[in-house]
Amino acid sequence: MKEVKIALLGLGTVGSGVYELLEKNGDFIKEKLGVKPIIKKILVKNINKKRDIKVDKNKLTTNINEILEDKEISIVCELIGGIEPAKDYVLKCLKKGKEVVTANKAILAQYGDEIWKEASKQKRFIGFEASVGGGIPIIKTLKEALIGNQINSIIGIVNGTTNYILTRMLENEMSFKEALKEAKKKGYAESDPTLDINGMDSAHKISILASLAFGFYIPISQVYVEGIENIDPMDLRFAKDFGYIIKLLAFARKVKDKIEVRVHPTLIPQDHVLASVRLNYNALYISGDFVGDILLYGLGAGGKPTASAVVSDIVDAIEYSYLKKEPFIKYPFTLKNIYYKIKPIEEIEFRYYFRFSAIDKPGVLSKISGILGKYKISIASVVQIGRHKKRGSVPVVMLTHETKEKQVIKALKEIDELDVVTAPTKKLRILN
Ligand code: NAP
Repeated sequence: MKEVKIALLGLGTVGSGVYELLEKNGDFIKEKLGVKPIIKKILVKNINKKRDIKVDKNKLTTNINEILEDKEISIVCELIGGIEPAKDYVLKCLKKGKEVVTANKAILAQYGDEIWKEASKQKRFIGFEASVGGGIPIIKTLKEALIGNQINSIIGIVNGTTNYILTRMLENEMSFKEALKEAKKKGYAESDPTLDINGMDSAHKISILASLAFGFYIPISQVYVEGIENIDPMDLRFAKDFGYIIKLLAFARKVKDKIEVRVHPTLIPQDHVLASVRLNYNALYISGDFVGDILLYGLGAGGKPTASAVVSDIVDAIEYSYLKKEPFIKYPFTLKNIYYKIKPIEEIEFRYYFRFSAIDKPGVLSKISGILGKYKISIASVVQIGRHKKRGSVPVVMLTHETKEKQVIKALKEIDELDVVTAPTKKLRILN
């Protein structure tokens, strides 16, 4: 029976999950594959750190060269995270002829081009199933199961932290702060959740998915991003009254000869399948020209689900290097003669939810609707919530018909300058 020696870079949430999975199911994998993956070395930052799992201390090292120079180690799993030294180690491993598996969406979304070119040059496998959707097999679905399709769109809830916060805010009337605090306590949010909240984590993931779906490298700089930091519980309630749920959605869509790649809070109809994705769950709704619409659903983070994805890549790396089976698509950007322009957000048409904060006096609504009319923004419905005995500021909520974003930007700028408008207008997009 063959054995393959692998190394882990990192023994945190994901690294520990991979270690545990291979300890528990290593023999089971050997039965299926005919090859047993054995962890030979593990790179950590602090060798003396107390860990939740029992690990043979002789396997731990703080010296990457012990892994790079070990000819027996043929597969390296980068599970450190962040840009450096993770990127440097990935490139060094490829140059040393090792197959690489990474869970690191940040390095792929920023330096994917460089990493994939190096893998291609060295004729090495690079697996990144765990970089998007945790345990959900979205990368393999795109690379293998849907290979016969042209992908029309991917719409995803790809960040469990923000989905948890939005769910608790809506269903339990929590404030943003309370929901975030609870998410941290339950381990669904990291101590610094900035990249989750501001949408960047979702943007990294959709940049990888869009590159795979459309066949050329779409770096993070091309993705339009808005987070959930400005979502008010009031907006969740008003949206619900209109029959919608607000979710942070990531989009990769092909519309004629252009591509939209964007992340922003979005109103989705309550009966849409993505509306039922609650708490820390993730889902991806994919539309292909032959398969039609499919939905993948599951846990998008956590040691165990993410380890499941890493191990599926380890098995692919074994097949690639030992059994000489070519992976279906080695590198997302290599499709020849395919390049679509990215459509700027200003050129996209949406239906909108607006919440104006306006002084409660006659004529205000006609001032606002006058400006909307000037920019050809047509109103679908309008609600003015509550009247104050003492004339104060009241929310006025409107839904519009389809309008180009650039018209909306101009109109809201003018509206927000009105002396009867007391705070910047809240603008959210509605799923078509
Ligand atoms: P983590 O818990 O913070 O663990 C990081 C590990 O890397 C630790 O073991 C740490 O060593 C080690 N490390 C950090 N800096 C190092 C350095 N300079 N040299 C050597 N080792 C170093 O991270 P994680 O949550 O497992 O995430 C790992 C990767 O998986 C990230 O790219 C993340 O985006 C991705 N991912 C995570 C999840 C999830 O649910 N957590 C889901 C999907 C993808 P010490 O233990 O000695 O401190």
